[in-house]
Amino acid sequence: MAIPHNLEKVSKDDVKYAVDYKGLRNGFSAPQKFVLKLTSKTNFSHRFDTQECVVTSADEPELPVSVWEGFIDNIGWTTPKVVLTGGEPLLYPDFESLLDMLGENNCRTEIITDGYLLNDYMDSILADHTELTVCFAGDEKSHNKILGVDDSFQRSISALGGLKKAGYEKITLHYTFLPDNVSDAVAFIERTKSLSPVKMVFQHPQFSSPLLNNLMQACWDKEYSAGFDERHIPTATSIKAAEFSEKVADVVAEIKACYASDFNIVFTPDISVSDIKRYYSEQEHFLILPKRVCLKPWQFPTIESNGDVSLCLGYAAGNIQAEGFWDAWGGDKSDNFRKKLMTVERFPICTRCSSLYQDVETA
Ligand code: SF4
Repeated sequence: MAIPHNLEKVSKDDVKYAVDYKGLRNGFSAPQKFVLKLTSKTNFSHRFDTQECVVTSADEPELPVSVWEGFIDNIGWTTPKVVLTGGEPLLYPDFESLLDMLGENNCRTEIITDGYLLNDYMDSILADHTELTVCFAGDEKSHNKILGVDDSFQRSISALGGLKKAGYEKITLHYTFLPDNVSDAVAFIERTKSLSPVKMVFQHPQFSSPLLNNLMQACWDKEYSAGFDERHIPTATSIKAAEFSEKVADVVAEIKACYASDFNIVFTPDISVSDIKRYYSEQEHFLILPKRVCLKPWQFPTIESNGDVSLCLGYAAGNIQAEGFWDAWGGDKSDNFRKKLMTVERFPICTRCSSLYQDVETA
């Protein structure tokens, strides 16, 4: 089956970005945001991810804190936003000293956590005025069931209650729609609204399929001689079922009708109800929002827990320990990747990748 992933060319007037995205993609730019995956360790044997359906508990090697400190020294002059994630970032042994260093370098910081260990880090979070995003796998019952730990929901909520009591006002709650939790989304809003989060984010999962992986593999083999990451295929086949997408569409419509005017509720991607069904469809997801382009390889690199500089799902342009960040970022591998992306505008998986939907001004 031919998938028309390289759709019509996008013109400057089509894209509603607050920046000159063509100029940005044609010149050198310092990243606006870095995502640091500090560790692949998780608190739960059944891991869920903030954006993906990927279930993995692989314990990959971690970088020593001295390497991260050198990296922050190197990039601090750009005063970027730095997102600390994992796995579970609070499991990284030197988490607090990293947080201190980021503060000393005037980097805005966001922690993305499952919240299970939050109680042990209250003081540093309050002292550093960092933003906090806590990811839930459902309301109480579904969250505990999906993660396989009876008190996981209560522990997170209790810690968030403590932060609120202490006057902390930078809490974002994150909820990825899954077949086992979609029916609980409204109950979750009711239960957590007293925490006064700055934002509630409801995310459609980022996922691939064997067909999509084959199409990506063809691109990767031809252009980059590197394999496309198999981990993006979800283990739950029900994610692609029509009933699931219909349920998601109903729940999104209900939340928009009943809560969107009173709370800052964000859907990502923010798509129409008919596009929600397309998003989960094998044949039609690449038709969604055809005018969007991805800016991740120019603005939002991910540094993996082994130091790889990732510009895209599974595409490493170098390593912060081997050639250093700036040489990887400005090197031939990065340039070639960006050129290819500008030629095709989208890869087959882009419409199911959360990076496509990030806006520069809101990142
Ligand atoms: S949107 Fe596409 S180009 Fe951008 S990171 Fe995702 S898969 Fe890569």
